[in-house]
Amino acid sequence: MAMNYQEILEDIRVEVQPLLKKGKVADYIPPLAGRSLLHFGMSLRTIQGETYSVGEACERFSIQSIAKVFNLTRAMQLHGDRIWKRVNREPSGAGFNSLGQLEAESGIPRNPMINAGALVIMDMILNHADAGEDLILDKVRALAADESINYDLMVAEAENDTGHRNRAMAWLLKAYRNLDNPIERVLQAYFRLCSLAMSCEDLVTAFQYLATGGTDVHGEIIATSEQVKRINAIMLTCGVYDEAGDFAFRVGLPTKSGVGGGIVAVLPGQYVAAVWSPGLSPKGNSLAGTRALELLTTRTTGSIF
Ligand code: GLN
Repeated sequence: MAMNYQEILEDIRVEVQPLLKKGKVADYIPPLAGRSLLHFGMSLRTIQGETYSVGEACERFSIQSIAKVFNLTRAMQLHGDRIWKRVNREPSGAGFNSLGQLEAESGIPRNPMINAGALVIMDMILNHADAGEDLILDKVRALAADESINYDLMVAEAENDTGHRNRAMAWLLKAYRNLDNPIERVLQAYFRLCSLAMSCEDLVTAFQYLATGGTDVHGEIIATSEQVKRINAIMLTCGVYDEAGDFAFRVGLPTKSGVGGGIVAVLPGQYVAAVWSPGLSPKGNSLAGTRALELLTTRTTGSIF
């Protein structure tokens, strides 16, 4: 029997309403601090291309660390297995911006989904780029089938002004000789990456390749099935930082969150779902968004487990 995704999403939207006000916006990035807690949008796109949406699913928001998946995918395309000499692939069990762990582990980030890992991955991508060249934006536009997707430079600038921990992290990586490019070049590219503005509908389109075994919505091969397996595994174990265990327990899907309140989840062979609600848990993942995904896999009785 065909699943009535639209009805399921409508029910979820109603059910999570009381949670919206319980989270806290990411106020360490000033433009995000002003976001209302009342936003909610959710989309699901099946691998057959049917899209179901509720709430503000077309409203663009700052995808923040969700972009680390595009970053990793691009580095895999450019560098293959050489990545793993400079970044590990173990869950961190620590906050996404932990400096202590990076120091204790001699400048090798635990995984590509925490900030330190994403900085190293960005450094590897920049090794392929001429000055000023952007190797990510065009790829994201193609994946999402929308040329109007862009960076929000106000958000990027605000992070540049206030991202002191990220700056400290980049210096520490440099001290351990795990950054080739000038620190400022890597930071600027990283802040821009985090500032990508996309909607839930953009995200479910752009992430299709992780549900289809590597093919995007145009039929282009973005990653091999082995790479897709690896990206999904990294999302499952590292995508929501030190809440990865709780997400596996409650949602049971590879997911990636961002402090803008977005979360993307993949059920390989079936669908991609994306949800946006700016109120965060203390660990930086959308509170209502997490519950919405938990309800989705419970109601549809489908997860990777
Ligand atoms: N740009 C944010 C930061 O570097 C990304 C963090 C996140 O979304 N978890 O702190």
